[in-house]
Amino acid sequence: MSKAIAIDGPAGAGKSTIAKRVAKELGAIYVDTGAMYRAMAVYFTRLGVDPDNEEAINAAVDGAKVTIDYVNGEQQVILNGENVNAFLRTEETGKMASKTSKYAAVRTKLVDLQRELASEKPVIMDGRDIGTVVLPDAFLKIFLTASVDARAKRRFDELTAKGEECDYEAIKKDIADRDYQDSHREVSPLKQAEDAVLLDTSNMNIDEVTDAVIKMAKEHLA
Ligand code: C5P
Repeated sequence: MSKAIAIDGPAGAGKSTIAKRVAKELGAIYVDTGAMYRAMAVYFTRLGVDPDNEEAINAAVDGAKVTIDYVNGEQQVILNGENVNAFLRTEETGKMASKTSKYAAVRTKLVDLQRELASEKPVIMDGRDIGTVVLPDAFLKIFLTASVDARAKRRFDELTAKGEECDYEAIKKDIADRDYQDSHREVSPLKQAEDAVLLDTSNMNIDEVTDAVIKMAKEHLA
């Protein structure tokens, strides 16, 4: 059994917020695997590769070197020597990541990096396939989810608070599309591992979810 905690779930379920808080409380390293798929998406976008052309993606994959660094406890993704963190969180990059993460060549490359990180230190890793594929022997697996409406509302509130104009229905459609794409791909689709604990956060706040995960982690470690 490894010292890792795996948190999987759909976009907008609160995985990264929760994983960061739990990592801090337990003294573990937070590994955001979505950021790695996003870095590959930045690479493909810059190259102008068509995300629907698997051959072109396969030919391009080897040209990307992705590594991870930590600055003040914050994960930094380095793409071919450049810190690309500032480019990862756009809607465009998210969509490109969701389209290109379905290819085996992309996944193999990043799964190797993720396993390497988990072999070095105790980690809390979040993504879509951590409990099922990347770290099947994680000592605690959580499947964090929430209704599409709850996730869309959180995203809408987050963008509105930042002063960005946005359309609730468009956000909801994006989330539903990404859910479909992530859970219907052939390679490592998003799904709950058989031994994962399901946590539906639709009616829970961040503190409640964080406390629930920390409690489970401590029970498993006891
Ligand atoms: O979690 P985040 O929204 O940053 O992930 C971006 C995209 O990367 C997801 O929509 C998904 O397609 C992909 N991803 C994945 N496997 C992971 C993490 C993310 O396929 N472990």
